[in-house]
Parts: sequence; C-alpha cells; structure tokens
Amino acid sequence: MTIPALMPTYGRADVAFESGEGCWLTATDGRRYLDFGSGVAVNSLGHSHPHLVKAIQEQAARVIHTSNLYRVPGQERAAARLVENTFADTVFFNNSGAEALEMAIKIARRYHQAQGSDRYRVIVARQAFHGRTLATIAAGGQEKHLAGFAPMVEGFDRVGFGNLNEARQAVGEQTAAVLVEPVQGEGGIRAADAQYLQGLRAMCDEYGLLLMLDEVQTGNGRTGKLYAHEWAGITPDVMATAKGLGGGFPVGAVLATETAAAAMTAGTHGSTFGGNPLAMAAVNAVLDVLLGEGFLDRVQSMGALLRGRLDDLAARHPGVVEEVRGVGLMLGLKTVPTNTDFVSRALSHGLLTVPAGDNVVRLLPPLVVGEADIDTAVDILDRVCKEPTPAS
Ligand SMILES: *Cc1c(COP(=O)(O)O)cnc(C)c1O
Repeated sequence: MTIPALMPTYGRADVAFESGEGCWLTATDGRRYLDFGSGVAVNSLGHSHPHLVKAIQEQAARVIHTSNLYRVPGQERAAARLVENTFADTVFFNNSGAEALEMAIKIARRYHQAQGSDRYRVIVARQAFHGRTLATIAAGGQEKHLAGFAPMVEGFDRVGFGNLNEARQAVGEQTAAVLVEPVQGEGGIRAADAQYLQGLRAMCDEYGLLLMLDEVQTGNGRTGKLYAHEWAGITPDVMATAKGLGGGFPVGAVLATETAAAAMTAGTHGSTFGGNPLAMAAVNAVLDVLLGEGFLDRVQSMGALLRGRLDDLAARHPGVVEEVRGVGLMLGLKTVPTNTDFVSRALSHGLLTVPAGDNVVRLLPPLVVGEADIDTAVDILDRVCKEPTPAS
C-alpha cells in the first residue's frame, strides 16, 4: 500500500496547529504563527473568539442537530437578520460554498423553467472559481480542476472578467443568468469595477436574466461592507456565500429575492445538515460581531492601513512585488518570484498567507486584526522581500 490513509489531494505544508488566539496560531512544536490567511478567508473573528466559542459550546450542550424536518429557531433568526441587512427576501442554508453555488445554478434553471422557458445557460467569467463539485468546476472552467473529470456539466458560457461588451455578446436565447465574483479570489484578487457590475445589472434587467453573485470569499465583511456588491451600489437577484459566515464553522447560504426564488417551493431542494442548530449558533454569533456598531468601519480602516503599508513595501521592493491589489481586508501581492515560493518563505518566517492565480500572494487576515499585527506581518513580508530570490 503506497497511498496514505488520508487521500493525498492536497500538497500540504509540513506544519500542524493545535491552538489559536486572535490572529495567532500555535503549532504542535510550540512555534507561533501570525495568521494572514484565516484558513482561506474563513476565520473572520480570528481564533478562539470568546463570543463565538461560547455560542458554539452552549448550543452543542443543548442540541446539535435536528434536521430540516422540523423548525430550527436559530435558522429562522439568522435568515431574518440576513434579510434585514441585505437585498435578499429569503435565505437557504448550505454546508459549503460549492453547495451554495450549486443551488444558485439550480435556482436559475428553475426560475426560467417555472415560466415555461427553456433558458438554462449561465454566463461566467475567465479565471473564476466557484468550487469543486461537477457543476461548479464547469462554472469555474479551470483546466486543472476539470482534467480527468469529463464529461463536463453543460451550460456555461465564458467571457472575459470585466468585459461588458463580451458579456452582452454572449447573451443568447437560452441564457438564464450571469454568475461572477465581485472580487475574484482564487483567480488572483481581481476586483470588478463598479461600472462593470452596474453594467451587468442593467444587462440582466434588459434581457430578463438573473444576476447571481458568488460572494463566498468576498462576503461577510471581508471587503469592509457586509457584502462586496454594496460597493457598486447594485443588488443581485441571487447570491451565494460561505467561508467567513460561520467564523470557522462550515456553513454556506444562498440569498435571493422573492422573484428569483418564487419557484423554490417545498420539496424542490434540501440538505440534511444545512442550517442545523450548531451551525446557526455560529452564524448568529458571527453576525452579532459583524453587525455590531462600527465593526465594518474598522475593517475598512484596517484594510486601508494594511494597503498603505503594502504599497510602501512594493515601492521598497519593486523587484519582488509587482503590484498590490484588492479591497478591504482581501488583498493580494503580485510577486516576481513564484507566489508559492514566496508563501513558503513567509511561512518559514512565521507568517501564513495563501497563494492565488496570476502569481498572487493573498493576505486575508481575520477581520479583527489590529495595527500591531499588521506591523508584524509587514515586517515579515519585508524580510522575505530582502531575501535573495531562488532561481525559478
Ligand atoms: C472557496 C470558494 C468557493 C468554494 O467554497 P467551498 O466551501 O470550498 O466549497 C466558491 N466560490 C468562491 C469565490 C470561493 O472563494
């Protein structure tokens, strides 16, 4: 037997963590690491946030799971709070980002089919990432994710991200929806400009398409707004989110307008675990913090502070950092050395970051990050930049 007991689909760094507090993690060998990856934009409140820990502990001691055969009060409360604070009229809870996207795609099909139309195709963007299920690898269209998994789920038409003309030209008789990330995450922290999202909104209205946003990574305060589309002053018809929503507890959600979700009646979709009492305790605790007075303003100011420091870093090391980009606390460094080399050298200096497409190093600190941790992170990045770059 040569295959490890744990199926080896990840190339993992040889480090394991056993505890954490705030923006810091402690490894099994006792070494401390500053976490500017947040488990890929998940640990929105950092590690061991007392309010989140207490909510999960108390709920676990009461009841963990009951199924969606019965009412789940925490689910009703979380849905009502999301409805109150967003464009949405209704919410469905899933367990992950990919599941939320799968459901969004199903909603687009059912919305049109309920009107007797055979529209089912979805316009998607290049460099997109929507998850690793069969439909979402087709939606993302990355060759490395599709290889060996043919046949591909049908019905996605790909256009250049940010190119409104191309999107308009891609609309056909069977187009049902448009699906994009307001800031492409895995694709390399590429932000859509406001006019692009506004243009897609107008185009969807003109042709009767659903505008669907993937806010799995950009959502839940990451960009300094509760959801990133707020920066563009538009609202989608359907939105998928996950990652930071549970602060580390696996949970996703689909938010929709009443019109978009009109055909999602009893029996049309389901999930055994989705929105269970434990998950909802986590979501409600995260929302308590995100919706707290001044919290998102502080995310914006910490984002601006980090951005300023990174711009200075790039100016000091033009041969190492080619560009700084992103919104709020979703920032990226396009590096000259390979991003994976940069990420592993940052790790060896005690800073966790996450690689992305387009040779970008992602910086996604917990939303509770403070100035001292930003200083420490930038000092470490500075040290990495000063190292001789290994020949790539
Ligand atoms: C992470 C991510 C997903 C997939 O989420 P999973 O929880 O891993 O299934 C989908 N879309 C975007 C934009 C993401 O960043």
